[in-house]
Amino acid sequence: MNLILLGPPGAGKGTQGHRLSERYNIPEISTGDILRSAVHKGTPLGREAKNYMDRGALVPDEVMIGIVRERLAQDDTERGFILDGFPRTVAQAEALSRLSEEQQRPIEHVISIEVPQEELLQRLAGRRQLEGRQDDTDEAIRYRLEVYERETAPLIDYYRRQGLLRCIVGVGTIDEIFQRVAVVL
Ligand code: ADP
Repeated sequence: MNLILLGPPGAGKGTQGHRLSERYNIPEISTGDILRSAVHKGTPLGREAKNYMDRGALVPDEVMIGIVRERLAQDDTERGFILDGFPRTVAQAEALSRLSEEQQRPIEHVISIEVPQEELLQRLAGRRQLEGRQDDTDEAIRYRLEVYERETAPLIDYYRRQGLLRCIVGVGTIDEIFQRVAVVL
């Protein structure tokens, strides 16, 4: 099963991705986690990515496409994968579509998790206190939501046209939302 989780920052992609990964025993590939780990280790990728991430800006498409291509080449993705945080631009979506065609591993479902803006702001502000992420400052949060609307939201239509989109209301308990996801798969 090859899935994409789509949704604004704070929608709960990571939480649901985790649950799905356990339920279906396929890896969750979070590009945000991959980048944060590179920043933490101080690798060249991490040093390049940090400037973008702290501001809430997107890391360049070529860099991200390279990361995902490498990650999908690993054996643990053979039975399926869950992408969380990728694609985030139309260029990334097009690259992914070429890649999955080449590898004959079509994307089967794109799950769009929908949460109202005010709730997102509250969640992200709450997370800042818990996790202390550099990009959870007021300014970076506002910018990430703006970037989402401009760069990522167009993917909703992109995948709807391909007949892959499954929309889920992302408000409620983690279990309730997981149930909704399970129903559309
Ligand atoms: P959130 O969804 O809460 O914004 P993520 O952990 O998914 O957080 O991403 C954190 C940051 O990592 C993004 O703001 C961006 O700088 C970078 N990033 C992650 N995935 C991508 C991607 N596919 N393309 C570009 N930048 C990305």
